[in-house]
Amino acid sequence: MAKERLGFIGVGRMGDPMARNLLTAGFELTIYDTSAAAIQPLKALGAQVAKSPLEVASAAEVVIVSLPTPAIVQKVALEISSGPSSGSKMKIFIDVSTTGPKVAGEVAAALAAKGITAVDAPVSGGVGGARKGTLAVMLACPRDLVERVRPVLEPIGKIFFLGEHPGSGQLMKLANNMLSAAALAVTSEVMVMGVKGGLDPKVMLDVINSGTGRNSASVDKFPKAILPRTFDFGFAIGLLLKDVKLCTDEAAGLGVPMICGNAIRELLAITSLRQGSDADFTTIVKTVEEWAGVEVKG
Ligand code: NAD
Repeated sequence: MAKERLGFIGVGRMGDPMARNLLTAGFELTIYDTSAAAIQPLKALGAQVAKSPLEVASAAEVVIVSLPTPAIVQKVALEISSGPSSGSKMKIFIDVSTTGPKVAGEVAAALAAKGITAVDAPVSGGVGGARKGTLAVMLACPRDLVERVRPVLEPIGKIFFLGEHPGSGQLMKLANNMLSAAALAVTSEVMVMGVKGGLDPKVMLDVINSGTGRNSASVDKFPKAILPRTFDFGFAIGLLLKDVKLCTDEAAGLGVPMICGNAIRELLAITSLRQGSDADFTTIVKTVEEWAGVEVKG
């Protein structure tokens, strides 16, 4: 027997594989995305296609959104909350995008005025983790909703409860993504240094991954998307820059120094300008390579 119908808004690099896992788990889906190309593969798998976020809200009690920027999440939440409550089935808005704690709080307040509860649930693990259903899901919501949303989030990944405060999941996610960006930035610098000094990049990765320098860039990003020069790991540099900016702004607001974090933010900003904000985040190595005059390739 089919499980309940869910809404899903934003079926891009992350949303598409998450939505597929929900279909596989037996949920019915009503989806919406501004890109016809993003919608097509899920429509072929049986998802119903809505013409607007409001139409999604009138089809399902639980709606998941995976949208690129905080501004777009706010726009979609506003569109939903400005519609007539009478036509809406939606009671729970699960945001799996990265928007930062401030926007999570604003969205929660706007939706609460319409009787909708916002569930803050950003994810980590990349497109690979989204495909495998092994994302880390950083959940913050009223405690009595945890069991209600658990079956919806379990096909997506492993749930970590961060507390009831809207934005706690986002704070955790910003901490995680700063670390992921730092690993990629500093691994880029040391790999370019090694290659310019005459080391073989494959041997370098073998050593790093057997030693204490091991990190998510040396284990995954360099072997899969940088050494083969495919630069297709699946996350836009503009979106990583957005996450790192949210993190340094949050730290500044809390009175916490982020000396290294701000240096990484600059390296990402330069890469986004030079490569274009849609370029894959692994192109960060190109900024270092162009400066040094060597390429890291396998
Ligand atoms: P993406 O750009 O591939 O997907 C976003 C989708 O939203 C696109 O299909 C786009 O057409 C759609 N969209 C844009 N505006 C819309 C609107 N107004 N209404 C409906 N649909 C709209 O981005 P992504 O990489 O899937 O990232 C989505 C979110 O997840 C971001 O907040 C990102 O920071 C976060 N995230 C990404 C990754 C990753 O590795 N790609 C990992 C974890 C978290």
